[in-house]
Amino acid sequence: MRIGMAYRYWCGECTSRTPWLSNARAQQAQIDHYAEKHPGIPPGGHVEVHRGDPQGGLGCLVFIGITVALLIVAASCHR
Ligand SMILES: [Zn+2]
Repeated sequence: MRIGMAYRYWCGECTSRTPWLSNARAQQAQIDHYAEKHPGIPPGGHVEVHRGDPQGGLGCLVFIGITVALLIVAASCHR
């Protein structure tokens, strides 16, 4: 297992974003954020993936413009 992959979900409705977490936990944080702040709106926005050491390597920041909704569907299928 490689350590250091971190995920941060950006809200599509406001400027809020989750802390750097594992994918599942960040995804849940985004869902919780929508449930609390934007009830009735499907989770959207995008996810930012950070490879490597979270303490450094800012050059490794990768933005992926995938909708959170797609990931949630993928995650539920994965179970
Ligand atoms: Zn929001």
